[in-house]
Amino acid sequence: MPGEFDLIARHFTRSVKRARLGVGDDCALFGCTPGQEWAITTDMLIAGRHFLPSDGPGTIGHKAMAVNLSDLAAMGAAPRYALLAIALPSDDEKFLRGFAGGFFGLAQKFGVEVIGGDTTRGGLLTLSVTALGEIPEGQALRRDGARPGDDVWVSGTLGDAALALAHHQRTVELTTDEAVACFPRLYVPTPRIELGLALRGVATACIDVSDGFAADLGHILERSGVGAEVAFEALPLSAAAAAHQHEPAARDCILAGGDDYELVFTAPPDRRARVEAIAAALALPVSRVGGVVAGAGLVVTRAGAAMALQHRGFDHFGDVEPQA
Ligand code: ADP
Ligand code: MG
Repeated sequence: MPGEFDLIARHFTRSVKRARLGVGDDCALFGCTPGQEWAITTDMLIAGRHFLPSDGPGTIGHKAMAVNLSDLAAMGAAPRYALLAIALPSDDEKFLRGFAGGFFGLAQKFGVEVIGGDTTRGGLLTLSVTALGEIPEGQALRRDGARPGDDVWVSGTLGDAALALAHHQRTVELTTDEAVACFPRLYVPTPRIELGLALRGVATACIDVSDGFAADLGHILERSGVGAEVAFEALPLSAAAAAHQHEPAARDCILAGGDDYELVFTAPPDRRARVEAIAAALALPVSRVGGVVAGAGLVVTRAGAAMALQHRGFDHFGDVEPQA
């Protein structure tokens, strides 16, 4: 057996340019660009809960990095560094090579330097990634800035990742074409980094959809002390989601399914043209789905009537079953 340090050297060590010191010492060292502040986030992924142990190693690596970059995107932060803590049931070379390919592949795409971590043996494959990004001081897209009268916007499409999972669990039956379109949304999600950066100074509040549209928009509303009205018909749907939207299980995927990693944000109506110009420049559609109102809570209407929202999103300690 090659040992822990050999494993770290072979799979988790890359040279760094921006950081003063990366993997190999007791701590990493790096500075902050003058006038900017750090955004820092941690997300943990556990086999059987956030992914299946049978998932491809590359997709597990990609997703571990993606969910953290998505949090940076939701704050409008420019990704800079990441740390990886990993508990491994065994030192399976094939897994480690595939995992590192997905993890470092996405890191490289966004210029992220992996500057440290921790490696241990553990019964369940467990990943904890910490990501750091920079934001000009005071410009972070927080959850607490939505005001009555603001529009509510969503990037991309909603529900596709959850539809893939529902197909896997046989609660929704996708055609082969639909499954081919939805599965990448679940396994190799795209963090909306460029959109988050472009929304600095434009969005009043922002969040990424990790637990479900209704739950995550709900977090903005709660933190901002406002309510919102959203029309189901205005929600952006892929062809697959549109085809199944009248099935209750698919409707739940759209409103309450997690793992989309799209951005939900608010902005005053006089910034509509700016939001649309950003979307056009990024070739990433954004949809205006409703408005922020005084009061509290989210009302979703369908054909003009309020929908009952039982399942708002995934909650590890709530009543919605974990995904895997
Ligand atoms: P220490 O015992 O001082 O905490 P370790 O022996 O755990 O240091 O780690 C040695 C070096 O390797 C450290 O720089 C640490 O940040 C890095 N490292 C350990 N595991 C990982 C990993 N999975 N990914 C990236 N860097 C890692
Ligand atoms: Mg040490």
